[in-house]
Amino acid sequence: MTAAGLLGDIAGVGADPRRGGFSRHGFDRSELELREWFRASAVARGLDVETDRNGTMWAWWGPPGDDAVVTGSHLDSVPGGGAYDGPLGVTSALVAVDLLRARGFIPGKPLAIAVFAEEEGGRFGVACLGSRLMTGALDPDAARRLTDPDGTTLADAVRAAGLDPARLGPDPVAMARIGVFVELHVEQGRGLVDLGAPVGVASSILAHGRWRFSFAGEGNHAGATLLTDRRDPMLPAAQLVLAARRAASGIEGARATVGKVVPNPGGTNVIASTVDVWLDARAEDDFRTRAVVADISDAARVAAEDEGCTVTVTEESYGDTVIFDPTLRDDLAATLRGAPALPTGAGHDAGILAAHHPTAMLFVRNPTGISHAPAEFAEADDCTAGAVALADVLARLAR
Ligand SMILES: [Zn+2]
Repeated sequence: MTAAGLLGDIAGVGADPRRGGFSRHGFDRSELELREWFRASAVARGLDVETDRNGTMWAWWGPPGDDAVVTGSHLDSVPGGGAYDGPLGVTSALVAVDLLRARGFIPGKPLAIAVFAEEEGGRFGVACLGSRLMTGALDPDAARRLTDPDGTTLADAVRAAGLDPARLGPDPVAMARIGVFVELHVEQGRGLVDLGAPVGVASSILAHGRWRFSFAGEGNHAGATLLTDRRDPMLPAAQLVLAARRAASGIEGARATVGKVVPNPGGTNVIASTVDVWLDARAEDDFRTRAVVADISDAARVAAEDEGCTVTVTEESYGDTVIFDPTLRDDLAATLRGAPALPTGAGHDAGILAAHHPTAMLFVRNPTGISHAPAEFAEADDCTAGAVALADVLARLAR
């Protein structure tokens, strides 16, 4: 079975008829179904599957042990996401095991496939939730209190999935098991298209984070309230959207995006009482990212004051620039006969682990250059090239 073929096996899970693409979120029905699919797929290959305290699934080739060669990715998606972001890394890992077996390879080190929970933060708002918990980058008390749009807490969601919420948090046992981590991922831009290469190696990840701006004004009647009597939080919210584009335009390579706005109560003939706006901001380094967010925050405060509203800013997650282990990166590029190295603006569990372990990423060419949307794509031949590259890399690292 090929990596693209395995993706076909799960194409019916979490398909989102309203948004298009897939909506699979941490510990929801579709993600749990994918977890069962992964368990069965791994068991069918004779791998031993366990789930750790933070909901990360581990499929072991041979006995579990410290200093293992670990590959994997995630099975959740953004709302209305593509088929490849996350699952391609998981299916490629399974196929890489098949390829290594067919070659008669016997790992000289423990080897595992890891599947992390809620990488996109599509349900609870914090990206790379599982890997942040494992590494201690996210306070478990704060994590347990995270809520999804229906008001379900992470504590309740993991309990429903059979985990103990009291045990969420730093996991030194799991950390010790990772000797090196390699994540294969569909590229989320056109770098490999422009280079004419099916597979590349990651060099760096932009600094990036998420901030929630909560504007509070006065809920009122859309017809009976004179314009001069309004305190409408939608006005500073709109100013924030414009300020985001303006602030990011002023710093080379910076990106700032508002993709989610939630007015409360959200009626056509109602002046909202509050509006929550989520800002995603990224730039080459910490200084530039912070400067973009400070600029936008200032604009939001001025706009709120002008309308008689208030604004509170909450940092929901943040990750500094990641430079992947240069020795490992060059070793893998050489193993792959000169595969190009390229940076990415997208965050990954590999970026979280890179602070603790030698970590690398392989990218598979995406002809549309589009990701986090249904048009995300990879040709079947490129998926195969990716799985072969991953097998070559695992053979090198676990020899
Ligand atoms: Zn991903």
